[in-house]
Amino acid sequence: MKNYDVTVIGGGPGGLAAAISADNAGASTLLIEREARLGGVLKQCIHDGFGVIRFGEKLSGCEYATRLIRELETTGAELMLSTFVSKAEKQRDGYLLTLTSRGGMERVFTKALVLATGCRERTAKQVAIHGTRPAGVFTAGTAQAFLNVRGQMPGKRCVILGSGDIGLIMARRLTLEGARVLGVYEAKPDPSGLMRNISQCLWDFDIPLHLSKTVTTVHGDERVEAVTVAEVDEKMRPIAGTEEYIPCDTLILSVGLIPENELAESLGVPLDKKTKGPFCDQSYMTLVDGVFSCGNTLHVSDLADYVSESGDAAGRRAASYARRERSLLPVNISRDFSYVVPQYLDPEADLSETVFFFRTAAERKKTKLRILLDGVEIKQKQYNGLRPPEMERIPFDLSGAGLTKDSKLELLMEEVRS
Ligand SMILES: Cc1cc2nc3c(=O)[nH]c(=O)nc-3n(C[C@H](O)[C@H](O)[C@H](O)COP(=O)(O)OP(=O)(O)OC[C@H]3O[C@@H](n4cnc5c(N)ncnc54)[C@H](O)[C@@H]3O)c2cc1C
Repeated sequence: MKNYDVTVIGGGPGGLAAAISADNAGASTLLIEREARLGGVLKQCIHDGFGVIRFGEKLSGCEYATRLIRELETTGAELMLSTFVSKAEKQRDGYLLTLTSRGGMERVFTKALVLATGCRERTAKQVAIHGTRPAGVFTAGTAQAFLNVRGQMPGKRCVILGSGDIGLIMARRLTLEGARVLGVYEAKPDPSGLMRNISQCLWDFDIPLHLSKTVTTVHGDERVEAVTVAEVDEKMRPIAGTEEYIPCDTLILSVGLIPENELAESLGVPLDKKTKGPFCDQSYMTLVDGVFSCGNTLHVSDLADYVSESGDAAGRRAASYARRERSLLPVNISRDFSYVVPQYLDPEADLSETVFFFRTAAERKKTKLRILLDGVEIKQKQYNGLRPPEMERIPFDLSGAGLTKDSKLELLMEEVRS
């Protein structure tokens, strides 16, 4: 059985960055990917906008992934493709992984584990749409893979449910390929995607966005023939009498992403209900020693660049992982936050490159973010506005701040009156 210092599961932009940094830090490293090609979801993202932060230029998702793959090829990290990690078990000094591939089953041992398994999409069943199950109902990611990887059109007259970024990007993509996108329907009163995508993917193509409306029924036997949409009240319940019948052949769902954490759960890694990813400290180590998490597995990021940033740090820290007692300090947040990552700080570990990622719970105008240590402000940052779909990043050198396990760290938001 082979032994590694660090094993990274998942070859998307998070896992690639983690494997590169673990190898660069001198660890014997293995990267495992269940698909035949590296790149994760970026393989199907042919539009640009990736890499502005990491590479200083606008790249397509495929180009962004290719850059990381080329970098990985210059390292000594070992790679296993078409290999699925089906089981992870805790041992005294590390983790035993069971791998399944065409060659059969095998086991590897690793001292530290980086989970970079990404997200999966919520499906029609999870948003309780009634009706039959005809062909023509796709998640946005599946429609993206059909169109961009296999060159096949999912349909000609499409309705999109949910205004998440992938749905918005698909509205534009389907239009460019000659389909008619009849509208994007969003149950919430505000769009879920980035303003940049609303403007570039809907407004620029005259695609209507209907807020506070949802799809209640799918019609059709063999193939989708129509959907019924209805207005919803503030509790998202359809309002009787507002139904509208829309003939179409395709329904595309962009109703949220769920971090893939089955392996983490099997190892007893506690998950944050808000992010649906593991709780972690500033080194991206979860609450289970030696298990690290990065990218969309940890929390859903807007930008692949931030995914890779967390991969860099998780890989580097996994490479220097040594077993010891940790006493973790919780990062307290007010109700104005939807969540913060990391949720804990380890005062004994390096705090010089601490990065907080957070989302606001509700849309806000001019806001001051304050970080308090034992009631004293140690950092503040002003924002002209905050929106829940936009993740914020705040890097912070906390090494000289005098944090101990008994300190109290709080993040607060305050309205700025001009
Ligand atoms: C369907 C979909 C479409 C998207 N489209 C866009 C877009 O158009 N534009 C945009 O900016 N962002 C898009 N995103 C967001 C984008 O995915 C992220 O920014 C980024 O790809 C996340 O990187 P990651 O490495 O965390 O995960 P991923 O890119 O998802 O990579 C995770 C990898 O882990 C592998 N894996 C999972 N479990 C196992 C296992 N048990 N064993 C072995 N391998 C495993 C998977 O096969 C996958 O390759 C999309 C996300 C999704 C889910």
